[in-house]
Amino acid sequence: MDYYPLFARLQQRPVLVVGAGQVAERKVDSLLQSGAIVRLVAPELNAVLQQWLDAGRIEHIATEFAPEHIQNVFLVVAATNDAALNQQIFAAAEAAHTLCNVVDDLQNCNFIVPALIDRGALQIAISTGGKAPVLARIWRQKIEALLPEHLSDAANIAGRWRGKVKERIHSMSARRQFWERLFHSRFDTLTAQGKLTEAENEIETQLQNPPQQNGQVVLVGAGPGDVGLMTLKGLQALQDADIVLYDALVSDDILNLIRKDAQRISVGKRAGNHSVMQEKTNELLVQYALEGKRVVRLKGGDPFVFGRGGEELQVLQQAGIAYRVIPGITAGLGATAYAGIPLTHRKLAQTATFITGHCQADGSDIDWQSLALSRHTLVVYMGTINAATIAEQLQQHGRSSDTPVAVISNGTRENQSTNKGVLKDLPQLTSNAPSPALIVIGEVVSLHEQLAWFGEHI
Ligand code: SAH
Repeated sequence: MDYYPLFARLQQRPVLVVGAGQVAERKVDSLLQSGAIVRLVAPELNAVLQQWLDAGRIEHIATEFAPEHIQNVFLVVAATNDAALNQQIFAAAEAAHTLCNVVDDLQNCNFIVPALIDRGALQIAISTGGKAPVLARIWRQKIEALLPEHLSDAANIAGRWRGKVKERIHSMSARRQFWERLFHSRFDTLTAQGKLTEAENEIETQLQNPPQQNGQVVLVGAGPGDVGLMTLKGLQALQDADIVLYDALVSDDILNLIRKDAQRISVGKRAGNHSVMQEKTNELLVQYALEGKRVVRLKGGDPFVFGRGGEELQVLQQAGIAYRVIPGITAGLGATAYAGIPLTHRKLAQTATFITGHCQADGSDIDWQSLALSRHTLVVYMGTINAATIAEQLQQHGRSSDTPVAVISNGTRENQSTNKGVLKDLPQLTSNAPSPALIVIGEVVSLHEQLAWFGEHI
């Protein structure tokens, strides 16, 4: 190890900063956030530092550096643009056995400052030993994306309970087990939901009944296919899951994001090919959660848009299982965006409706009258099988047979394709469209030719 990692407590400890430009300002800022008493040495201060001085937040002890400034300080940071001076400061600090960092000058540092991921009490520091600070920053961003915001609340609550838990559970290994179970239990869901009082109550409950394990279910929308359309929260849930139950619509790219040692179960069903029925899926969700697992129910698009997400939650709610929902980009938004078809447009459509094509064969369960109005975009999910009925009913109720229509297959995926035509030809357009396919009906479809930007048109 080239460097020994440590976190220093600077509260109320004097720190010397030499220099008063932009770099010094940045350093002073983070030192102040850590509660340090900042003593500044510089001929003149930049505007922000001057403000902080006027506000009494920092001290300005001299205009020229002198070795005695190093006496009685905990750390030294040199941020001047004078290399000889920086070196002199470092030499003085070394002689006094004081920690010193000359900004961006590894040779003249006996400590370095890592890239930091800050979630309140939880801090993660990354360093490449000064070899490649940009690489450290890139990894900081990646790790940052994986860490949910609520970790800070979880750590703060745990901090408040640490003493009490120690009093009640004497063995160190039992204590470790307790915390591990807690952070993987519904305590996690409760803090994510911002229910901090309930989360604290949960600690109390688990302290009283330690053996019980409570699972949880996270309903996650995977979006229409392009892995980049998945949300950060969805990604975090996939990385955290013990078990993932996924639909046939979820793309392989997204399945690749699941934690490698998590169990995966396909509960996929496509119309007419029910591999596991909905009831069985519901049963599995309850069963795994009761076993104490962190379950992710991963659905194509958005779980609440023709996804039966609501029904699954009702079952979980009745079984008393903690759950949360992470929305996804529904096909009606994703596929149309990638096909260059805006759902509304000032001149062409003021309304858009999402409907399912899984209607009665004669279409008697749908209010065609209102759907047939012009300047009204219809987005039809699962519409290919009943395309003939849909086209016929809309025309019978007054929608023009020349209304532009598009059938978007594999929307947002590399193999996206768009078939364009008019309403009266809809049955032919859908007949050999690859699945999954979304039908869009309305004047806005005419914009596709002009605006298409993805896939087959590039
Ligand atoms: N919950 C999903 C919809 C499930 S219903 C969502 O919000 O997107 C399944 C239907 O969605 C399919 O029959 C198809 O009409 C549509 N669909 C889903 N993904 C699609 C995609 N990538 N391209 C086109 N249509 C898609």
